[in-house]
Amino acid sequence: MITTLSTAGLAAEVDALLADLGVARQRYTGGTLTARSPISGAVVAAVQEIDPNIARNAIDAAHSAFLSWRNVPAPRRGELIRLLGEELRTHKDALGRLVSIEVGKIVSEGRGEVQEMIDICDFAVGLSRQLYGLTIATERSSHRMMESWHPLGVTGIITAFNFPVAVWSWNAALALVCGDSIVWKPSEKTPLTALAAEALFERALKRFIDQGGPAPKGLSTLLIGGRDLGEILVDHPRVALVSATGSTAMGRAVGPRLAQRFARAILELGGNNAAIVCSSADLDLTLRGVAFAAIGTAGQRCTTLRRLFVHDGVYDSLVPRLKQAYASVAIGNPLDTITLVGPLIDGQAFAVMQKALDAAKAAGGIVTGGTRVEDGTAPDAYYVRPAIVEMPEQTGPVEHETFAPILYIIPYNDFDAVLTLHNAVPQGLSSSIFTNDLREAETFLSARGSDCGIANVNIGPSGAEIGGAFGGEKETGAGRESGSDA
Ligand code: NAD
Repeated sequence: MITTLSTAGLAAEVDALLADLGVARQRYTGGTLTARSPISGAVVAAVQEIDPNIARNAIDAAHSAFLSWRNVPAPRRGELIRLLGEELRTHKDALGRLVSIEVGKIVSEGRGEVQEMIDICDFAVGLSRQLYGLTIATERSSHRMMESWHPLGVTGIITAFNFPVAVWSWNAALALVCGDSIVWKPSEKTPLTALAAEALFERALKRFIDQGGPAPKGLSTLLIGGRDLGEILVDHPRVALVSATGSTAMGRAVGPRLAQRFARAILELGGNNAAIVCSSADLDLTLRGVAFAAIGTAGQRCTTLRRLFVHDGVYDSLVPRLKQAYASVAIGNPLDTITLVGPLIDGQAFAVMQKALDAAKAAGGIVTGGTRVEDGTAPDAYYVRPAIVEMPEQTGPVEHETFAPILYIIPYNDFDAVLTLHNAVPQGLSSSIFTNDLREAETFLSARGSDCGIANVNIGPSGAEIGGAFGGEKETGAGRESGSDA
């Protein structure tokens, strides 16, 4: 049973949250970009978009800001990020709730997203006193060589709808501490959380300036609008690096344009993450790990578990239990604390999911779940029961990312063969193995094991922790965020 809030109730709550977070009402009323909540599918705000010419001028201003910000000592730059972390701590509940309303994440996931922002601020503050380079012995007498790292310039940040604010912060906190200015183009599906994050940054900036902090105008800019603004960011000669998160299709468009002008790129694109369940696996732990990774955020994480290879010897013990868990999971309003699965972002996501399920059936798959869950009060909201699809082999839709809760399960009996299958898709973001056999675990982590950017043992593939470098291989893109690559 779904209990959705009335349209008026949601819009009023959005208004109250934005006021609390410090966003001026004229930014999200009377504009051309309609903001919807997937909870009911209703329009909750009409956001002002940025004119392309104003965007170009803002990028020029960001370059001027960079020219002065790079001269501010790094630990002082870190102080600005420390203040941002404080603002995020103070407003964690409000921003987390806005994430839930705008993206449909359950309450704990909305707050978790803000916690990731806080974590990267802490990390970046520490880094602001640790911007080391190497000193190297040379072949020349009375000489030494030094590697020192300088800021790059304007850093462009393009983000996807499913982590509407955390991904901005991962890039913004590090860029600002390193002496770069930032320009952000958020997803057109999530302008409200972007406005809120900007407002919290403005509060931190004001406190920084009140303390005598030397902050130039134009240090951080938000470009609300469609992909045309993203293209302006990608093509602008003053933007030295673009960190773009989104679909592989977006990366295919953005990557060559950046290469054309020799700009740097971090591309964080689509994943098609798998787990291997070996015969020695602890099945209780596996059940929890698999269900969480495949169902969480309604299958709308880049690291969502989408392919599951299960050893013949444990298939009949694990798969029926997994189906039971899928049948009983609470689906509904993400603001209700009992809910585990919120809505899909929109009707298009639902249509794409149904198309993938039809293709899976045509390829011999047996589908359990995947149907729409409705209570008749919100025709524009798209809630679904997560789907399990038992596939005879890895074909058709299994080879692509469908951004919805579909878990394809494929049996196997040979470890080397399943490793080959695991790596046989074009994407390479995250991966897992469930085993109590040390040899299998170590092989999976070795050079001949998982070919993904992230490999886990006895835990699902979803999620990220900023202490480790985050990113993928192959069609998932290039470059890493945070961690050792910070
Ligand atoms: P999307 O590709 O539709 O949009 C992402 C962003 O790119 C948006 O801000 C959009 O306006 C912009 N954009 C699109 N085309 C552009 C272009 N040609 N030039 C410049 N900007 C452009 O993605 P989405 O639907 O918002 O997000 C879901 C996708 O993102 C999934 O594929 C998911 O796996 C991926 N994702 C990846 C990661 C990661 O870290 N690897 C993290 C989150 C999401």
